[in-house]
Amino acid sequence: MKVLYVCSELFPLLKTGGLADVSAALPAALLEAGCDVRFLLPGFPAIVAGVVSGRGPLAIPLFLPKDFGPALGEAGGQGGVTVQRCALAVSDVPAYILQAPGLLDRPGNPYLDAQGKDWPDNALRFALLGWAAACLGGGLDADWQPDIVHCHDWHTGLAPAYLRCLAPAGAPVPASVFTVHNLAYQGLFPRASFGQLGLPAHLFGIDGVEFYDQVSFMKAGLQFADQITTVSPTYAREILTPEQGCGLDGLLRARSDVLSGILNGVDYLVWNPAHDEVLDKPYDWRSLGRKARAKAQLQASLGLELQPDALLFGVVSRLSEQKGLRLVEAVMDALVHKGGQLALLGGGDAALEQAFVQAAHRHPGRVAVHLGYNESLGHQVIAGADVILVPSRYEPCGLTQLYGMRYGTVPLVHRVGGLADTVADISAESLAAGSACGIVFDGFSASGLQSALDRAFALYAQPEVWKSVQRNGMQLRFDWQEAAQRYLALYRRLRPAR
Ligand code: ADP
Repeated sequence: MKVLYVCSELFPLLKTGGLADVSAALPAALLEAGCDVRFLLPGFPAIVAGVVSGRGPLAIPLFLPKDFGPALGEAGGQGGVTVQRCALAVSDVPAYILQAPGLLDRPGNPYLDAQGKDWPDNALRFALLGWAAACLGGGLDADWQPDIVHCHDWHTGLAPAYLRCLAPAGAPVPASVFTVHNLAYQGLFPRASFGQLGLPAHLFGIDGVEFYDQVSFMKAGLQFADQITTVSPTYAREILTPEQGCGLDGLLRARSDVLSGILNGVDYLVWNPAHDEVLDKPYDWRSLGRKARAKAQLQASLGLELQPDALLFGVVSRLSEQKGLRLVEAVMDALVHKGGQLALLGGGDAALEQAFVQAAHRHPGRVAVHLGYNESLGHQVIAGADVILVPSRYEPCGLTQLYGMRYGTVPLVHRVGGLADTVADISAESLAAGSACGIVFDGFSASGLQSALDRAFALYAQPEVWKSVQRNGMQLRFDWQEAAQRYLALYRRLRPAR
């Protein structure tokens, strides 16, 4: 089974969120399971920096028919547009890198300019990624043609549309799988950009890529992929509703026969307290007492009071409306009043950033806020906190609650999406069954979160109960191997002969 895995981020080279973690782990697990998988990645500088020579890189000029495919003009830059076959330092999975210097050779965030605004030519940049995927699918590399093109999020959404357009031309075309990691980010562009995309005119319509007079890359993926997946079973059901469907629930309901949810896993080579380099004293569920050292380390490095018994809440998150952090802001004073502490690492929404900075000023030694992205501090917060807070309004899968459980850091989550699928609430029954592993609240409101915090304080005051919940979570496994088997089964359903 040959699979082309198309995505725009790859940890540790380039990461803005969980998508990068998934790209690092799922293809590797597929490879381990015997699947012949290759990446197609855009040639952003951070990705190109991870290329190692040695596997005979081969530059393939991208085939650009006149009447089909994105209108590149001079945008490819002097070097033109190529797909380079290569090996990456960070992965055993072979890669194709899309080289289009004029469009992709820009430092920083892959989607935004230095002012935090979308790059004005994003439609063309990511159309080209989809087009390169379709060309590889159509046999661009004579040595390797995929059976499946597996696309991730709106950045790759045009690939299934282009593949569908190639099919009538008689080319042997692979099946396409489109995985939604977050339906809310849709890749919407003005109607005028449609002309650049090289799609047949009739596709600008309700049965094509049009979304309220705009072009939607997300809709293209949902409309034309042979199979749609999302990253948890509950989110797969939730996006069928008007509340969570982001305007695409009608289309998703119409295609629900090809929609399924496959839960993400955890890369336990990266997220494991037994050999995490940021920890002075590594630990596992048998040596849980050593977690106190991680807490002291975190308190010291963030300037929190060195109180071993203060219930320490951690947040590692993009600061966006999705993540429910307005609720945390609303309960912050009460949290401190009850003797708790908060360590927050995040960046994004300017108003939220300001609100948390002000809270840290109001509560010195009790609330510590670190703005920006910091991988190693992320590990320290997840290891050192007692509770990892994930009160998201919606959450396709969520990874930090899974990381928290591995580190004996009890997740406190809103019952939604992947959070509902992965965290078993503490109750008399779940404690007796040995399945209790976190605190789950219903009702997305400050009062809902406040009651959950009250429960956290009450449970923390019962050390034996708390420890058993920590141990339950630490022994759970969310293995990528299992997720990889599910994806493989899905690929085989689409291409039974391979
Ligand atoms: P999303 O993809 O919606 O941002 P996930 O929970 O799926 O949320 O994945 C978030 C990933 O990004 C996790 O690996 C988390 O540790 C990491 N992360 C989020 N914010 C930061 C930050 N400010 N610094 C370091 N890592 C972060």
